[in-house]
Order: sequence, then C-alpha cells, then structure tokens
Amino acid sequence: MKKVIIIGSGLGGLSTALRLSKKGYDVTILEKHSTPGGRLNILQKDGFKFDLGPSFMSMTFELEELFNSIGEKNPVKLEELDPIYQVFFEGKEKPRKIFKNLDKLAEEFADVEPDLARKADEYLTRAGQFFHDTEDKVVKSNFNNKLEYVLKLSRVPLKHLPYLWKTMWSEVEKKFTSEEVRIIFSLVAFFLGATPFQTPAIYSLLSYTEMRHNGYWRVKGGMYRLVEEIMTLLQKYGVKIEYNTEIVSVNNQNGSVTEVVDNKGNRWKADIFISNSDAASFRGKILNRPKFTEEKLDKMHWTLAPFTIYLGVKGKVDNLMHHNYFLGSNFRGYADTIFTSSISPQKPYYYVNVLSKSEDDVAPEGCENIYILCPVPDLRYKKDWSDKDELANNIIEDLSKRTGFDINSNIVTKTVMAPDDWASTLNLYKGSGLGLAHDINQVGAFRPKNKDEKFNNLYYVGASTTPGTGLPMVIISSKLVTERIENEYKSVS
Ligand SMILES: Cc1cc2nc3c(=O)[nH]c(=O)nc-3n(C[C@H](O)[C@H](O)[C@H](O)COP(=O)(O)OP(=O)(O)OC[C@H]3O[C@@H](n4cnc5c(N)ncnc54)[C@H](O)[C@@H]3O)c2cc1C
Repeated sequence: MKKVIIIGSGLGGLSTALRLSKKGYDVTILEKHSTPGGRLNILQKDGFKFDLGPSFMSMTFELEELFNSIGEKNPVKLEELDPIYQVFFEGKEKPRKIFKNLDKLAEEFADVEPDLARKADEYLTRAGQFFHDTEDKVVKSNFNNKLEYVLKLSRVPLKHLPYLWKTMWSEVEKKFTSEEVRIIFSLVAFFLGATPFQTPAIYSLLSYTEMRHNGYWRVKGGMYRLVEEIMTLLQKYGVKIEYNTEIVSVNNQNGSVTEVVDNKGNRWKADIFISNSDAASFRGKILNRPKFTEEKLDKMHWTLAPFTIYLGVKGKVDNLMHHNYFLGSNFRGYADTIFTSSISPQKPYYYVNVLSKSEDDVAPEGCENIYILCPVPDLRYKKDWSDKDELANNIIEDLSKRTGFDINSNIVTKTVMAPDDWASTLNLYKGSGLGLAHDINQVGAFRPKNKDEKFNNLYYVGASTTPGTGLPMVIISSKLVTERIENEYKSVS
C-alpha cells in the first residue's frame, strides 16, 4: 500500500485524502493548526459561531462529484438562496435585491435599466456558452506542458477569443446602461479576489454559474458542516491526521522527496507527498526555488487580502439578509486605487454575512452574528496593520448608519483579522485571501503546476495550483491531482 502524506487540511487536502484513501492509499494529513479546514473554518466565541472565510457555495455539482466519486451520497445539506443577496448603494435608502429569476430582477431595476431581462439573458447566454466550451477541455484538465495547454485551448471555439483580452467591466459596460446594473454584474470579480477592471471577461462565466446554471447556495448548519462531514468519512477510511504540525523543510534523494520535517523536528516519510500549503510560496519558502523567490512572487499578481470582522450583536438587525453588499459611490476610483495603497480605505466597500438570519443555533436568543469581509491591499502594499481597530470601527460605524441599527453599543463579542493575521495563521502569501490571481498568464499551464518541477513524488493541491481558487475549483484541483497520481502509480497494492 503506497503511503501518502498531505501537508495541510484545507478543502483541497481533505478532498484529496478522501479520493486517495478510497482508492487504497495509506493517507496521513499533517496540519499546522489544531483544527482541519484551512480557510474553510469556524470561529466559536462567547456563544456565537461564525464562518471564518467562505460563506457561500457555487457549482455545487462539484461537491456531488466528490462524494459520488467515492461511492458516498452527499451528506451535506444545501439550500439555494433566493434572493441571492442584496446590495446597498451609497445614498440610496432601499437596497436592491438580486434575483436569479430575470423577470423579478428586471422589476427590481426597472427605474434604472429598461429591458433588463432580455439584456441579462443575452449576457448570461454568452457567458454560459464560454463555460460549457471550456469546462471540460480546459478547466478540468491536467496539462504536462504549455504546448499541450495551447493545443487544448485551440479547440475552444474562436468566437470566444475577444473574451481573453477584454475586461469584465468592458463587457458589462457594453451590455448595460445603468451604473448600478453594471456593478451588480461585475461583483463576481471580487469572488475571484480581483476588481472587474483587471479581471478578464471570461470570468463572466461565474455570473452564469451563479445566476442561471447552478445558483448560489448556503450550507445548512454553517459552512463548517462540510469539513465535519468530510472528517467523518476520513475517519471511516482510516485517514490519520496530525495537528499542530507545521512542515518546515523537505529532504530528498535521487530526485525524490524522502521525508518532510516539522517544526518540532519530527521526520515524516512516505512514497508520495502532496502540498496543500500555497503551491507558489511552498516552492519558494520551503524548497528555495530560484523561480519563486520573494522578489519573483511579489511580481506575480495576487488576489486581494481579506480584512474580516466577526461581531456578536445583541438585538436583531432587520435590514440585513443572509448576504449583503455595502458599496460606495465611486466604484472605479475605489477599485483602481485602494488595493495598491498603503493607507486603509476611508470609505470601505464591504460584504456582510449574517448566518443567524438562516440558522437558529449560531447565536444566543435575540442576537445576531455578523461577519464582515472587506477586500484590502495585501502585505506587499500595506505592511503595517496596527491601525486595524480604526478601520474596523470605521466599517462598524458605516454599517450602523446604513442599517439604522446601533451596532457599536450592542456588541457582545468582536474579533478582527487583518491581512497579517490571515498570512501568519494560514501561511497565505502576503495575506492574499484567494491565492494567485486568475490573469490569463496565471491560469492553465501558466499557473504553478500540481506536479513538482524537480521531485517526481511531490504534488500540489489547492487554490494556488490548477485550476484555481474558490471551493468548487479546489475540489476540481483534488480530482486533477488524484488523476495524475493514479496515472503515475497505477500499481498500488
Ligand atoms: C475571507 C475569505 C472568504 C472566502 N469566501 C469564499 C466563498 O464564499 N466561496 C468560495 O467558494 N470560496 C471562498 N474563499 C476561497 C476559499 O476559501 C479557498 O479557495 C479554499 O478554501 C482554499 O482551500 P485550499 O485547500 O486551497 O487551502 P487552505 O484552506 O488555505 O488550506 C491549506 C491548509 O494548509 C495548512 N498549512 C499551510 N502550510 C502548512 C505547512 N507548512 N505545514 C502544515 N500545514 C500547513 C494551513 O494551515 C491550512 O489548513 C474565501 C477565502 C477567504 C480567505
């Protein structure tokens, strides 16, 4: 039986452990933390439970595929959100609700965007064609080299070519006349950790997956149920997991990794090693590869860093829903300047998740749990976050004003995580929340590969390797690395 060590228990590591253990590999996971899940985690404090990072799931068919691939029924209960979310535009008292049903959406924006149902239908149809023309050929494929990738790309219909060099914003600008609707259709860029002014138009396929194809889902019981259900199965399949174990170096012989060494000096031997730790920075920090020095990594394009606040609040904030966005009045100016600045945003744009709107046991009776996520510059641009309380107070004050609820005087518990906390807690490069960005030159064969360049038994899984970031992509990543390992180690006994 081949022995596998997986470094990290993020969704990528856990999903790979599920697939490989079911195939008969002897799997051990080594995790830096005392709990599994990585970014997909839970914060429990003073009677409140918060999702730490991810708060929604899209492309839920990938989750089905994961469980079906090991012969299990999906144990995770999902609920589709309708309306999907609401958006508070600055200066407008009433938030706009975003519906999957295009007639309802058109009604919601009837005062600013005539004929929205038709325009949105055309926009989503085009994005859908791109999604289906690339999903299997490009996104769900392993590539051995750039030539193979380019050949696969050449099988994508030529009509999609302009998508490659246009930005998402230019596409929405062409299709819709109202600034509000343009912003709504470009918000998905932030789910990729970037602004729509940098994000290639191809990623409008996310609007298609969320608004038409599959939808926008929450996990019943909170996102962490997903990790708990996977952990139950891993136990059933005999996967071992060691916590408080951070891998700090790698030993090798004759082109193979022989063992990894943890922070306490323990040595872990195996036949196959898989890093779920950030694929790019692992190569630089642990393997000292010249192509991944700090100087070179800094030049790569990284996704925005998260600034997160977790508030337990006494009372009910009636104006909030499960998902809410709070936007200012200068979208372009904000997006163009704030993420490369060394100063905290004065009028931040942010997202608010209120799990207690959908779940009973996540907050004490009569209370609300409010999770705020504000995208900010990473540590390359803003190194010093000693002003984090100031920014948090600024956001809380803004939220109070815009919801008409005095949050500050009703706080029962408060936790703030700035990019430096995210970087040190989860080994995220310079605090980048979603890992490497998805520019055309950082996806496919141009993204750090899921197989090491030098060691023949070292692989990678997760957001910074192929195909990309976000929960469904990370599940696909586990499928791709498993396929690669299976092809190379067919004779598992
Ligand atoms: C604030 C935030 C909100 C998000 N919201 C969403 C969302 O709503 N929907 C969505 O689909 N996606 C969302 N994402 C993205 C999603 O969380 C990630 O793409 C996904 O969870 C990444 O999983 P992973 O397995 O690649 O890595 P991680 O979750 O980062 O897991 C890696 C694990 O490896 C461990 N580790 C690292 N280095 C070492 C080492 N040297 N030794 C041992 N262990 C190590 C870490 O402790 C961690 O547990 C969000 C991300 C953030 C930060």
